[in-house]
Amino acid sequence: MKNPIILLLIAATTVSITAQTMPRDADPRVWQRALSIHRRAIIVDGHNDIPSPLVDDDFDLATNNVGKNHRDGDPFHTDLNRFKQSGITGEFFSIYVSGATLKTGGAMRRAMDLIDASYREAERHPRQLMMCTTATDIRRAKRLNKVCVLMGIEGGYAIENSLYALRDFYRLGIRYMTLTHNVTHDWADAHRDEAKNNGLSDFGKEVVREMNRLGMLVDISHVSVKVMNDVLDVSSAPIIASHSSARAINDHTRNVPDDVLKRVAKNGGVIMINFYPSFLDERTSKEENERSTRLRPQIEALRKQFEKDPQGFNDAERKLMAANPIYVADYKRIVDHIDHMKKVAGIDIVGLGSDYDGVPFLPAGMNGMEDLPLVTYEMLRRGYTEQEIRKVLGENFLRAFAKAEQVAGNRQVSGQGSLKRIDR
Ligand SMILES: [Zn+2]
Repeated sequence: MKNPIILLLIAATTVSITAQTMPRDADPRVWQRALSIHRRAIIVDGHNDIPSPLVDDDFDLATNNVGKNHRDGDPFHTDLNRFKQSGITGEFFSIYVSGATLKTGGAMRRAMDLIDASYREAERHPRQLMMCTTATDIRRAKRLNKVCVLMGIEGGYAIENSLYALRDFYRLGIRYMTLTHNVTHDWADAHRDEAKNNGLSDFGKEVVREMNRLGMLVDISHVSVKVMNDVLDVSSAPIIASHSSARAINDHTRNVPDDVLKRVAKNGGVIMINFYPSFLDERTSKEENERSTRLRPQIEALRKQFEKDPQGFNDAERKLMAANPIYVADYKRIVDHIDHMKKVAGIDIVGLGSDYDGVPFLPAGMNGMEDLPLVTYEMLRRGYTEQEIRKVLGENFLRAFAKAEQVAGNRQVSGQGSLKRIDR
């Protein structure tokens, strides 16, 4: 590798990490400085739903094509090239298990399939990706110019009420678990479902304690406010919301209220802001709800028409949405949430949890993960310091993650734990 031409090529590849076009209204000097901060920072994204299409659609991360139907250029947010442009070092692949499995069964099996799919991507693309399970791994990946594949389970029922299974998931590399998805289950209440457990049940509290002992982060996205508070009462380690925004900016049940933000500041945790415009912005949320009510009969008709052709249904649905546009808040709205959280609870609680490929559309100005530098630009434009920006992009998460590892490690030493550490 001493050939100067090869070295030059490597340098050129590194520089192209952030080759996005500048927003039309941007100040070129601020934009250049934003790109340079963005390039140096360690960026961790709390939530990406790409594992589901990897399994269900044979999605190809290298080409952004859907394999099963041989379709090119599907509008996914994630692929290897865009990872490079995004500057992301740590990406949490969501091991998302649908609440429907509470009726049909198969929750744990589904999680296993998605975990395998995540590993296989890292195995297929060893020059670009690596599996990571610790904060140190993420820092190492940055030095190696690779993207960490991290994994978080979404939907606590994936453990099928078994602490044995919880520990096995930890051994497989799961480093956070979102306690619910949208439905209440045996031991935790969801944000928009019936409160059957008055928050967390006794077993739910035991799950949280066991997660602390293992060093698996407890994720309060999707849970009821009572569960958020119960988790904060029980957890001895920092917690996260892997993909939730501020409720004071948009009063949506998926967002986190101010009193919880303040408690998270004391707990040392991180709220990773979701980019979905309907969570970010009241007007988008309202117009999207109205549209889905209005178009429901047409969507049902399409569902029948394309019963055996899910891809065809997706296309037809997309066309219908495009013919019925709504107001979509732009990427600057993300930074309104950052501003608010900083004001209410301090910069140390703020992180990013995009929800790429888990949401039907992104803020105006963003097509996929390649447009992440826009968030850095907007923070810089509003006067955030480089240190503050680096905290939001990844350092806050790394701090909370390392602390959770330390809490787990301490317990091992104090003899409360019985499991041998598997990764160090
Ligand atoms: Zn989610």
